[in-house]
Amino acid sequence: MRKFKRRQFLQATLAATATIGASNLRGFASPSEEHIEAVVIGSGFGGSVASLRLAQAGIETVVLERGRRWEITDAGDTFSTYEKPDGRSTWLSPTTIIFGETPIDVYTGVLDIKVGDGVNVLRGAGVGGSSLVYNGVTYQPTKELFYRVFPRSINYEELDRVYYPRVRSILKPSPIPDDILQSPFYLTSRIVLEQAAKANLKARKLDMNIDWDIVRQEIAGTKVASAIDGQVYYGINSGAKQSLDRNYLSMAEATGFVEIRPLHVVIDIEEANRGRFRVSCNQIDEQGIVVDKKTIVCKYLFLAAGSIGTTELLLRAKNNGKLRRLNNQVGQLWGTNGDTIGTVLTSMQTNPTKGGPAATVIEDFDNPIGPLVVEQLPLPILPEGVYTSLGMAITKPEGSLTYNASTKTADLVWPRNSANNEKIRAAYLDFYSRLNEANGTSLAEELNDNTTAHPLGGATIGAVCNPYGRVRGYRNLFVVDGAFIPGSTACTNPSFTIAALAERNMDRFLNRYRKHKY
Ligand SMILES: Cc1cc2nc3c(=O)[nH]c(=O)nc-3n(C[C@H](O)[C@H](O)[C@H](O)COP(=O)(O)OP(=O)(O)OC[C@H]3O[C@@H](n4cnc5c(N)ncnc54)[C@H](O)[C@@H]3O)c2cc1C
Repeated sequence: MRKFKRRQFLQATLAATATIGASNLRGFASPSEEHIEAVVIGSGFGGSVASLRLAQAGIETVVLERGRRWEITDAGDTFSTYEKPDGRSTWLSPTTIIFGETPIDVYTGVLDIKVGDGVNVLRGAGVGGSSLVYNGVTYQPTKELFYRVFPRSINYEELDRVYYPRVRSILKPSPIPDDILQSPFYLTSRIVLEQAAKANLKARKLDMNIDWDIVRQEIAGTKVASAIDGQVYYGINSGAKQSLDRNYLSMAEATGFVEIRPLHVVIDIEEANRGRFRVSCNQIDEQGIVVDKKTIVCKYLFLAAGSIGTTELLLRAKNNGKLRRLNNQVGQLWGTNGDTIGTVLTSMQTNPTKGGPAATVIEDFDNPIGPLVVEQLPLPILPEGVYTSLGMAITKPEGSLTYNASTKTADLVWPRNSANNEKIRAAYLDFYSRLNEANGTSLAEELNDNTTAHPLGGATIGAVCNPYGRVRGYRNLFVVDGAFIPGSTACTNPSFTIAALAERNMDRFLNRYRKHKY
């Protein structure tokens, strides 16, 4: 970090000196502009991978993240809980956005919602991005299903051989150990495995980005009960969730080449002179009040604000004429990953609010209507006797985001009742009818596909970006997050594939960088 600060000082001095002699030149930096070699916007999966790899290559990098840091402490009270939510639960909102609308203080909390037409999107905010609020499922798609979504310009064998293992080597995900699975907290996970077997469905444990030793300590009472209590979406207070701030990002910071700036909301990106980019952001306080405005000029810009955030920044830049060479595909090819919640009514005890995060999956790849998977999840609003699962399928990327000049945000439209989405609903109903028939259970309510936690697309491979995430028309502008992926990660939760593709695309960037081709 010392090296970083010293170089920054030298750069600032040089920029200021140069400005004195050249202040009349069009596009020249104003004294208040900071110059950094690389900027990463957002610190979720794409941003974390990009930051670490830039740092290891010795490239000075600033990460601009709208949310705050969330450090786990021995007090076990970093995050708010479902039972007593406060401002920490939700991004700048007077009420909670899940499990009811409880009034809370307006604060830069961890979970945000994008309300769309046809679907609402949940997403994280904070250093670590959506890994702060996620379930930790680390799930690799099969080759066959992968190519139902992705073009052949992405080599699955290479991902399988090099990039998924590279991500795995840092996150170190593992399945739930049997002693924990056998505890009363994980009763639902066991029921799901048993019911799947009765219905002749393939079920197994998922690889989870969870420290199971900490879960054991929760069970032993030496750590605050959090994962076992089903707390997931506002963060896990025991530290069982291995969010990105505790691996990729801390490794990046340790190099001294990366500075993460929390509570910096990027407002605009634009092309500056000599192929550089100007990034404008608001520094906010924890109540969301703007306390400063800053501008950074960088040579390399990596967009990692998530599917919605990245797409919105690109759409705004296009609308305002700040990135004129963006094509009309920006905002297109967006999808929900087929996220669908189903609730099964049983005649037995299920402990449905306990034992998180999701630990098991049923893989119904041979579903006669279309492949899908279903993962059981604890939710605090469930009554005894039921359990809830989140399903994922292969959606067509029929959604879109368009710029709304009056609100200065992107409007999201998802055709929930399109023929493709009706087909996916039919596939889920087929799955649940087989599961229920074999077990004497039933669906407790209609399937719910009006919310997704897996937004994907908007600046996709082939359409907006080349196969390695470089934005067409711009040599040094890259998309490294979920915006790159057209609507689905092929019957899996997306984070593993987002991170593996980011690793792959950063490798490509750094190879070129080292050969001075950039
Ligand atoms: C509740 C929930 C549970 C999930 N569970 C799983 C799971 O178990 N397994 C799995 O694989 N996936 C899961 N996901 C999905 C997964 O978290 C996302 O697919 C993944 O995090 C997306 O990575 P990303 O890099 O695209 O964006 P994100 O991880 O969302 O990161 C984007 C970051 O950019 C920041 N940002 C946005 N706009 C700006 C701006 N203008 N300026 C500065 N910063 C900005 C955000 O605050 C955020 O930190 C879950 C998601 C949610 C919401």
